[in-house]
Amino acid sequence: MRGPRGGYHPSVKEAENQLAKLTESALRRYSMIEEGDRILVAVSGGKDSTSLAYDLAAKRRWWPARYEIRALHIATDFCSCCKKTALFDLLASWGIEALSIDVPVIGRLKPGRSMNCYWCSTQRRTELILYAMAEGFNKIALGHHLDDIVETLMMNMLYKGQVSGMLPVLKYGKYPVSVIRPLALCEERQVIAFAEEKGFRSAACTCPYGRDSKRREVRERLASLTGGSSRLKRNLFDSMSNVNGEYLP
Ligand code: SF4
Repeated sequence: MRGPRGGYHPSVKEAENQLAKLTESALRRYSMIEEGDRILVAVSGGKDSTSLAYDLAAKRRWWPARYEIRALHIATDFCSCCKKTALFDLLASWGIEALSIDVPVIGRLKPGRSMNCYWCSTQRRTELILYAMAEGFNKIALGHHLDDIVETLMMNMLYKGQVSGMLPVLKYGKYPVSVIRPLALCEERQVIAFAEEKGFRSAACTCPYGRDSKRREVRERLASLTGGSSRLKRNLFDSMSNVNGEYLP
């Protein structure tokens, strides 16, 4: 199908099938869901987590292992862009119970410290884990996609001098909770196509603190390195599980 700007645009069904197949591959490849899992889906109101919630709700109807899902929205003391009521209505229409908790991310800063993405993510992740443990959820589903994972790999190599990424399944040693990333094999453009076709892309994050982040810079470097090629991005992703130690110092 041709889009308004002349490029190829998948139909709703094509975009949905594409996303559903890639999440199915990730769920199977990394054994993300087991019988009786109680999964807490972190929802921000953005395209990634909304698409993730939709997909997990749809798969609940036929996935071989039975699982339960609930959505949790973390409202910070600086973000007012999310359209929570509309998001919760959407989630309810897919049969997902949703709750919101307030986390004073800035209010928790120690004197003299300034706000940054690392602090924000750590505070929100801690609240997700605490909520999951208190409510008996054993998994937390996050909406990170393949581009996020490859960006993290590049950030760690460039700024930490370390080869490490973001795991599709992360088991915490000290908590009875794991993190799963069912969108790990989906490229951002595929999530955007799906979310746009479904009409739930509007609540984009307008956070003022993320504008100059290193991630933004790495995203631009990566775009020029790969030219946006899916094959090259997927090769970078695959390289994380295809390490030839004989040729590394
Ligand atoms: S961009 Fe804003 S909301 Fe996102 S992690 Fe950074 S500070 Fe938090």
